[in-house]
Amino acid sequence: MPSEFDLIRRYFSPPAPANTLGVGDDCALFAPPAGMQLATSTDMLVEGRHFFADVAPHTLGHKALAVNVSDLAAMGAQPSGCLLGLALPAARAQHTEWLAAFARGFLGFAERYGCPLLGGDTTRSDTGLTISVTVFGAVQPGQALRRDAARAGDDVWVSGHLGAAAAAPGLLQGRWQEDETHDTLPAVRPALETPEPPLALGVALRGIAHAAIDISDGLLQDLGHILAASGCGAVLNEAALPIAPALAPVLAHWPQQRRRAVVLGGGDVYQLCFTATPDARAQIEAAARATGTPVTRIGRTTAEPGLTVLDANGQPLADLPSGFDHFRMRV
Ligand code: ADP
Ligand code: MG
Repeated sequence: MPSEFDLIRRYFSPPAPANTLGVGDDCALFAPPAGMQLATSTDMLVEGRHFFADVAPHTLGHKALAVNVSDLAAMGAQPSGCLLGLALPAARAQHTEWLAAFARGFLGFAERYGCPLLGGDTTRSDTGLTISVTVFGAVQPGQALRRDAARAGDDVWVSGHLGAAAAAPGLLQGRWQEDETHDTLPAVRPALETPEPPLALGVALRGIAHAAIDISDGLLQDLGHILAASGCGAVLNEAALPIAPALAPVLAHWPQQRRRAVVLGGGDVYQLCFTATPDARAQIEAAARATGTPVTRIGRTTAEPGLTVLDANGQPLADLPSGFDHFRMRV
């Protein structure tokens, strides 16, 4: 069995960027760009709760960092680097192909998003695999896209598309049927397993958008956090919601309740929900074009609290699906 130090050296010791001390000392050393504030966030992934035990290791490595970079995107912060904590069951620590593939997924994402691995911690686990990632990013003081910055009368926007990631587990496990004419699972699976957070868009929205959040627990729940923090409400138009194109054909055959649960309540989206003054529409569309990320206007914020979704006839939906809450729902 490789020692902890062999394992770190072999799989988790990428070359450090210039002017940075990376893996190998008691601490990593790096300087945020001059005049910038440091943005930092941690997200844990627990086997059996956040991922299936048999998930492909390179997708797990990708996702562990992607969900953290998604938080930087939601703040408008440019990544500076990350730390990786691993609690590894013995069987995984011995499984060199598994470790190599996990590291490839993690470090490949780190390279593409400019978020170098600078250190971490590795320990043995007597239960399942737990992964804890901490990211650091930089943002100009006063420019971070905070949850409490929405104002009544803002447009509500989402980036990318909704529903694909939340539909994938039901399809994977055979709980939800596809119809024979569509091959939906291969098309929606990447949204669940290898999300690509819209980092460039988040950074481009600094100074333009008011509030932002990344959609991890479902559109309604995550927008609800913005509304609670900002002291306002919102009215959304169901017909405006950007459904993942791969999902649209099969969605049409599903019962309405499941359709709404997946689109309005479905988590793991790792796209942005943000608000901005209507005067900023042209700037937002320019930022979306420049960064190659589609954006869709889905409603407005209101001075009255509460979240309402209007159906295609302008009628409020009675039973809104709730989002994902680890302490209320089982995976
Ligand atoms: P310490 O005893 O000071 O906690 P460790 O022996 O845990 O140091 O770690 C040695 C070095 O390896 C440190 O620089 C640490 O940041 C790095 N490291 C440990 N685990 C990981 C990992 N999973 N990924 C990246 N770097 C790691
Ligand atoms: Mg340590």
